[in-house]
Amino acid sequence: MPDQDFDLIILGSGPGGYVAGIRAGQLGLRTALVEKDPKLGGTCTLRGCIPTKALLHTAAVLDEIRDAGTHGIQVPAPQLDVAKAQARKRSIVDKNSKGIEFLLKKNKVTGLHGRGRLTGPNQVEVDGPQGKKTYSAKNILIATGSVPRDIPIAPADGRRILNSDHVLELERVPQSLAVLGAGAVGTEFASIYASFGAKVTLVEMLPRILPIEDEEVSAGLEKALRKRGIDVLAGTKLTAVEQTDSGVRLSLEGGKKPTVEAELLLVAIGRRPVTEDLGLEALGIQLDRGYVQVNEFMQTAAPHIYAIGDVVPTPWLAHVASSEGILAVEHMAGQPAKPLNYDRVPSCTYCDPEVGSVGLTEAKARERGYAVQTGKFPFSALGKARILGRSEGFVKVVRETKYDELLGVHIVGAHATDLIAEACVALQMEATNEELFRTMHAHPTLAEGVAEAAHAASGHAIHI
Ligand SMILES: Cc1cc2nc3c(=O)[nH]c(=O)nc-3n(C[C@H](O)[C@H](O)[C@H](O)COP(=O)(O)OP(=O)(O)OC[C@H]3O[C@@H](n4cnc5c(N)ncnc54)[C@H](O)[C@@H]3O)c2cc1C
Repeated sequence: MPDQDFDLIILGSGPGGYVAGIRAGQLGLRTALVEKDPKLGGTCTLRGCIPTKALLHTAAVLDEIRDAGTHGIQVPAPQLDVAKAQARKRSIVDKNSKGIEFLLKKNKVTGLHGRGRLTGPNQVEVDGPQGKKTYSAKNILIATGSVPRDIPIAPADGRRILNSDHVLELERVPQSLAVLGAGAVGTEFASIYASFGAKVTLVEMLPRILPIEDEEVSAGLEKALRKRGIDVLAGTKLTAVEQTDSGVRLSLEGGKKPTVEAELLLVAIGRRPVTEDLGLEALGIQLDRGYVQVNEFMQTAAPHIYAIGDVVPTPWLAHVASSEGILAVEHMAGQPAKPLNYDRVPSCTYCDPEVGSVGLTEAKARERGYAVQTGKFPFSALGKARILGRSEGFVKVVRETKYDELLGVHIVGAHATDLIAEACVALQMEATNEELFRTMHAHPTLAEGVAEAAHAASGHAIHI
């Protein structure tokens, strides 16, 4: 094979591509990263994880101030300055994007600005501000991510029907917001705008919100969101959308309301992979509903071409994309590489209250034939939760009874997305439930709830 310009060319600088670039640099691969956007970081940094969590934090601060009276602190009713909140969000996004640029430089990754496509088995054409240029590489990594999916009856127009990219840039709080889709993205925006003062309706076609979570978690979250004034319509199908003088009217089927009116509609029904016009099919790489098919090391049908993140049919999550990126790069560099265990992917929704889970739900564990015992411990029995004034929610542990293996941990409640980390470690280390409850947990902490739920799964919770 003739000398190549690079050992690796990566298409896309999201959490899949940029993390793969850093790891490749660490392993000494001569690496280039192609990005069509002027800023680095992809969906996660620019239009996903980071900006949503910045706005969710603003929402949390607003709610804390509203609650100050319960601490004996008298403050006037807080006013939200949306422009300032948005400016703060943008500055966080920019800092993160600049941080990625710095890390790539530090690891000697060459940045190529432009739209990349494969023009041969080892060739990438980059169409950038200076025109088209072609580069060669021994390996290629596709990390071109995803964009919001439209539905034919409600295509996003950026005015009254919005997708997640549009709603992130809103410079005002609408009177009312209908959200279609109660996955993580829809539920987080419902939570933000409820705190910001909009009347929010959350519409989900499946029988429950956050349908991939444990059923008890979905039910617990629904109860908490209703208490916050969010109208949750699960088991409800959208059949039509009409424009009205003041917004949109949704026609609904199957649920408790036939219509809902709102000033704005957010469509959050999922995303589609960005794989068209990359030149993949011409190289014999087949797509299935737009997704690239890969083996357990993220290799496509052409073994030197890898694909990771939102373009492959694994969970749409930044940490999945990053882990797949590291796996792919270590594999192509000839390092010992271990396929990922997708049963151990943490799933987090940063709404209020938060949801964090890892491992099998109770239903999945039973479906797989395990003899299952579960334990639940409410936040209301935790001293720390009372101190924080955050008594809603619970921790649920799923274990199997033959070897006492820990199968899953599911949390709905304050700081659930941080609390889930210890369960991730426990599952990764194939801990038994007893190892989890015998691990000493500091008092008073919310993490005690995890140990208590593990105790409960073995039949002996202490503080209840
Ligand atoms: C509102 C929202 C909130 C989210 N919150 C979370 C969260 O809290 N936690 C979490 O884990 N996940 C979250 N996600 C999901 C997460 O953002 C994605 O799973 C993740 O970004 C996927 O990473 P990726 O590297 O595969 O692709 P992306 O992040 O989509 O990046 C792909 C990059 O490739 C570039 N690109 C595309 N085509 C080309 C081309 N031909 N040439 C050059 N460049 C190209 C794009 O411009 C983009 O920069 C959220 C998503 C959304 C929409």
